[in-house]
Amino acid sequence: MARTVDVAGLVDRALAGEPRAVARLISLVETASPVLPEVARALAPHTGRAWVVGLTGAPGVGKSTTTSALVGALRARGQRVGVLAVDPSSPFSGGALLGDRVRMGAHATDPGVFIRSMATRGHLGGLSWATPQALRVLDAAGCDVVLVETVGVGQSEVEVVSLADTVAVLIAPGSGDGVQAAKAGILEIADVFVVNKSDRDGADATARDLKHMISLGRRDRAPTWRPPVVKAVASSGVGVDAVVGALDAHLAWMVEHGERDRRRARRAAGEVEAIAVERVRSRFGGLRGGAALDVLAKRVVAGELDPYAAADLLVDGVG
Ligand code: GDP
Repeated sequence: MARTVDVAGLVDRALAGEPRAVARLISLVETASPVLPEVARALAPHTGRAWVVGLTGAPGVGKSTTTSALVGALRARGQRVGVLAVDPSSPFSGGALLGDRVRMGAHATDPGVFIRSMATRGHLGGLSWATPQALRVLDAAGCDVVLVETVGVGQSEVEVVSLADTVAVLIAPGSGDGVQAAKAGILEIADVFVVNKSDRDGADATARDLKHMISLGRRDRAPTWRPPVVKAVASSGVGVDAVVGALDAHLAWMVEHGERDRRRARRAAGEVEAIAVERVRSRFGGLRGGAALDVLAKRVVAGELDPYAAADLLVDGVG
C-alpha cells in the first residue's frame, strides 16, 4: 500500500507552483500521510504570506459563484489565488466527490489559480488538523490569497472558516438565512456580510436586518471592526468589486490593529494542539479500540478507577 514519496522533489515542484504537486501534497494531508511532518518541515520557511479568506453560507446561497467571481477579480489585479473547498460532512475524498468543480471551469486552466476540494469527516484529528495544513501548502505554493469555501453553515463549517484571516458570510434575501446564521454562531465570526442574489426581492430588508443585528451585537468600547453589509449579484458580477473592497478594508484594519498576527497565532496554536492531541491518541492506539484504553475503561466501569485517574495513567503511559 505505502508508496514511497519523494518529499523533497514534491515540495520543490509545489514551491515552483506546479499544480499537480500542490494537489498531491493536499492529498497527503487529506489521507494523513506519515510523511507529513517532513512535508511541513520543508514548507515552513516558505509560509506566512497568504491572506486566508473564508466563505460560508447556506447551500445554494451562491458560495461557488461568489468564489469564482472573487477569483476573477483577484486575478485581474495580478494575485495568485488558491481555492480550498472543504466539505466537513463528507468522508469521501473531495478530489473525487466534488471534482475540480465544473463551475470553476473558467479558471481551471489558469496557472495562477489552484483549486482543490477536501473532505474531512472522520479525519484523524479533524478539521483543525487538516485545514491549516492544506492552507500551508497553498501558501507555500505562492498563493497571495486563499479562498476557503465550505459546503454549508453548521458547526463544522464555522470551525473551518474561523481559521481564516477574514470571514465572509453569504446570506440570500428573505431566506431566513439570517436567523439560521445567528443560530449557527455565524454572526460573531463574520467580518463581511454579503447579501447575495440581490437581484431578488427583499435584499434591502435583509441588509437592513443584518445591520440591525450587528449594531445590537457590538457593545464593546474598544476600537472594533464593524462588519460591513455588501449587496451583490455574484452570477452577473454586480457588487463583486464592493465585496473585494470590503475584504481589503478588513485586511487593512487587521494589519493596523495587530489582529492579523493574533489570528495567525490562534490558527497555529490550534494546529499545534490538534497535532499534539493526535500524537497522544495514536500512541495509546486511537480513541476506540486501543488496548491500554480498553483495560482502563473496564476498570472505570468496574468502579476501580475514576475517569480522571484513568486519563492520567493513559497520558503518563504515553510519555
Ligand atoms: P452554493 O451552493 O452556495 O455554492 O451556491 P452556487 O454558487 O452553486 O449557486 C446556486 C445557484 O444560485 C446557481 O444556480 C447560481 O447560478 C445561482 N446564483 C448565484 N448567485 C446568484 C445571484 O446573485 N443571483 C441569482 N439570481 N442567482 C444566483
